[in-house]
Amino acid sequence: MSDPRYDVIVVGAGNAALCAAIAAREAGARVLVLEKASEAERGGNSYFTAGGFRFVHSGLDDVRKDVLVDMADAEAAKIVFPGHDRQYFYETLMEVTHGQSDETLAGILIDNSRPTIAWLRKNGVRFIPMYGRQSFEVEGKHHFYGGVTIEAVGGGAGLVEFLLKRCGEVGIEIRYGAGAARLLQNREGRVTGVTVRSQTGYEDIAAKAVVLACGGFESNPEMRVRYLGQGWDLARVRGTRHNTGDGIRMALDIGAVPFGNWSGCHSVAWDISAPPFGDRWVLDNFQKHSYPLGIMVNIEGKRFVDEGEHYRNLTYVKFGKAIMGQPQRWAAQIFDQQTVHRLRDEYRIKQVTRVEAGTIEGLAEKLEIDPKALATTVAAYNGACKPGNYNPAILDGVAATGISPPKSNWALPIDKPPFVAFVVTTGVTFTFGGLKIDEKGGVQDLSDRTIPGLFAAGELVGGLFYENYPGGTGLMSGSVFGKRAGTYASEYARGLNAPAQ
Ligand SMILES: Cc1cc2nc3c(=O)[nH]c(=O)nc-3n(C[C@H](O)[C@H](O)[C@H](O)COP(=O)(O)OP(=O)(O)OC[C@H]3O[C@@H](n4cnc5c(N)ncnc54)[C@H](O)[C@@H]3O)c2cc1C
Repeated sequence: MSDPRYDVIVVGAGNAALCAAIAAREAGARVLVLEKASEAERGGNSYFTAGGFRFVHSGLDDVRKDVLVDMADAEAAKIVFPGHDRQYFYETLMEVTHGQSDETLAGILIDNSRPTIAWLRKNGVRFIPMYGRQSFEVEGKHHFYGGVTIEAVGGGAGLVEFLLKRCGEVGIEIRYGAGAARLLQNREGRVTGVTVRSQTGYEDIAAKAVVLACGGFESNPEMRVRYLGQGWDLARVRGTRHNTGDGIRMALDIGAVPFGNWSGCHSVAWDISAPPFGDRWVLDNFQKHSYPLGIMVNIEGKRFVDEGEHYRNLTYVKFGKAIMGQPQRWAAQIFDQQTVHRLRDEYRIKQVTRVEAGTIEGLAEKLEIDPKALATTVAAYNGACKPGNYNPAILDGVAATGISPPKSNWALPIDKPPFVAFVVTTGVTFTFGGLKIDEKGGVQDLSDRTIPGLFAAGELVGGLFYENYPGGTGLMSGSVFGKRAGTYASEYARGLNAPAQ
């Protein structure tokens, strides 16, 4: 092979790609990052996130060592920050995916989560506890819950800025407005670069290895219908409009094997007024994640999920799909004065679809649903609520039973007016199906062989998430698999790691 200008081309400039680029550079590679979006739209879905990470740790003292290094003792004294061990991470992932998550990928993700968070910190990403969204104040202390306890300073936008800053410091070249269109391959089947499309047309750029980290197909309505099913073309997209499945398609075109849950995706309750794609100012605040504190009804005034089935982090994704299955993809979340003060920040933005009324019938009229139907639902629910020790920071077992569906936790009657409702639809976050990788991030072909020179990381890798997803795992998986793909791509490019054929 003649010596190309770059050892490694990384396709995409979201979290997974930037981690891959930094790791490849650390391992000695000359790296080019190609990003389809313009500089003004940079950061991919990662930009739109809260920047929350799920990782293995043994509690606050452990995390303060090399992650929350800026935290003062006075702040630490006011926090109850439960550990998150390997077994708990594994069981959570397997519980929500019904045991379908690929054992090898799950093991790599979990075992590398702790060192990778420290690596991010070492590379300049700063973190803070996720006070606003993952803690409740109980008796003067912030109790963290649900397994996602830290976020990047500045959320996803902050995360992307930190990573881009690091790329600049270590000399990584980034081209914006440069979308990879096709993979180049030689007669031995080795990937030798990419064809790029920019404003000036097409250009072939050679490299010894390519890392695909350019997202799933959530922003491609044709692929959504083809793989997720009828109606998904109508879902709103929560993040970037640029994740149109290009990386997956390019790899399939040269014989990569499809892997994972192609009919599944991450989707959530999303304000019905939200635009078709993510808004770079509102970010993830169109989401409405406080439904465990109230009830959710469809346009017929009927409940359709157990809002208190588990912590929000473990149900919000499958409930996005449940809303998709309701008439007109419409739902209303209803709260009363006992809980409305506990709603997350995202309920207080000005772009919110909110109605309020002194009676349930009045609320129904404002929601344009049948007042009798809603009053019947609320009365049945209130009558089913059993007394108990209400505590929103734990699975408190305060349940509404004898109705269908039940509410398994946090079931307070909705009887303290004024009543407040928020109208939501489904917002799609990212797709679960994608490419199959080996332990080094090498993309697998239809004969279960590694395609030489081709690596992948992030959303476009299949096999980790099936049907549901534990919150905070997307960024962690992007970082873990991105870092690994970058390192191995660099080693491969430097001739240290030719894959067995
Ligand atoms: C609103 C929202 C909130 C979220 N909150 C969280 C959270 O708090 N915690 C968490 O863990 N996860 C969260 N997620 C999920 C998380 O965003 C993803 O799991 C993760 O960011 C995916 O990273 P990625 O690098 O694979 O993809 P992305 O960050 O989407 O990056 C892909 C990049 O590839 C580029 N691209 C696409 N096609 C091409 C092409 N042909 N050539 C070149 N470039 C291309 C895109 O423009 C994009 O910049 C959230 C997602 C959204 C949308």
